[in-house]
Amino acid sequence: MLASLARTEAAEPFRPAARIAEIGVSEILQIGARAAAMRRDGQDVIVLGAGEPDFDTPDNVKDAAAAAMRRGDTKYTALDGSPAMKEAVREKFRRDNGIEFSTAEISVAAGAKQVIYNAFMATLGTGDEVIVPTPYWTSYADIIRIAGGTPVLVDCGPANRFRLTAAQLEAAITPATRWLMLNSPSNPTGSAYSEADYRPLLDVLRRHPHVWLLADDIYEHIVYDGFRFVTPAALEPALRERILTVNGVSKAYAMTGWRIGYGAGPEALIRAMAVVQSQSTSNPSSISQAAAIEALTGPQDVLAARRESFRARRDLVVDGLNAIDGIDCSRPEGAFYTFAGCAGLLGRVTPDGRRLASDRDFCAYLLDEAKVAVVPGSAFGASPFFRISYATSQDELREALARIAMACDALRN
Ligand code: PMP
Repeated sequence: MLASLARTEAAEPFRPAARIAEIGVSEILQIGARAAAMRRDGQDVIVLGAGEPDFDTPDNVKDAAAAAMRRGDTKYTALDGSPAMKEAVREKFRRDNGIEFSTAEISVAAGAKQVIYNAFMATLGTGDEVIVPTPYWTSYADIIRIAGGTPVLVDCGPANRFRLTAAQLEAAITPATRWLMLNSPSNPTGSAYSEADYRPLLDVLRRHPHVWLLADDIYEHIVYDGFRFVTPAALEPALRERILTVNGVSKAYAMTGWRIGYGAGPEALIRAMAVVQSQSTSNPSSISQAAAIEALTGPQDVLAARRESFRARRDLVVDGLNAIDGIDCSRPEGAFYTFAGCAGLLGRVTPDGRRLASDRDFCAYLLDEAKVAVVPGSAFGASPFFRISYATSQDELREALARIAMACDALRN
């Protein structure tokens, strides 16, 4: 026994594959972990970091899942969505977006994130570029890198409310461009593209037939003040042969844990995406698919009620932030995030003598002093800003705003 142990070579240090070596743990998760540790320590931390509605999944959806289990829908389903699930997605696109897809043009996966992952894995090779308007949801760039591609980050500042312009798109396109990635309403900014905003971008795409468009519509139903949501595939049928429209039930129906997202686009792409999924997860959960069918085809009144609740919270947060000297926050059209500028606070000094040099410093100060966790804009590729997720109660938001105001007040010039 001892002799055989002695012959064992010492293990070499762990060596990750090159494709993931440059991908770090998301800053959002790190902040969340730090806030959780402070809470375990007994500190009263308010976390405004998570991209997750605080509402519960509607009861009719839970009931549909329970019924599916009882009837024995507990087996593998068709690889990228059961026929009934794909039919529900077809109905959703017909009803909400006025687009007619065949079931062969639809793919269902374990979250919108997996749909995006499948699409990039199925299409990108070394040297392929994807244009990503910045600030952006961090997973876009990391998935593109894992797939071997190169994210081309295009800085879209507050002047155009963080939206890509046609001139910027035109300048970013190269022969290596495979995709343009758009997200409306956006995580992290809440900005959304109206039909008038999309038109010039689609005109550019029409002139560059090698560039495809991935439209991430996951926040479609969370829009305010009568904003008219539109999706590019509905606006420009001629471009449909190179648009993948991605959506899901996570945000609209408060179903983040169920893991169901879907995509609709050209059949050849959908087939290639199914190959990726067939060698990773296979089908998304049969029970979650039954729940998602009910969410998509059952009563939709829950959407309006929750939208109104989110709108009230948005106004509370935007007004509260703008009342603080040094913070500047535009009023976003959708999603449940604000992306406020904190340039006016940089250079100021904390009560214990630290000078705030960046949005990262400011967010660390808020966590330490105000016990409020928010995410620096640098985590999304844009500084100096910070993102608040307002998917929590008005009471908690009021308390958080009061603490932020007090912490900002305590800064010296
Ligand atoms: N796209 C965006 C812009 C998101 O914010 C998220 C969730 N944070 C997703 C996609 C992924 O959603 P899902 O839970 O369906 O994977």
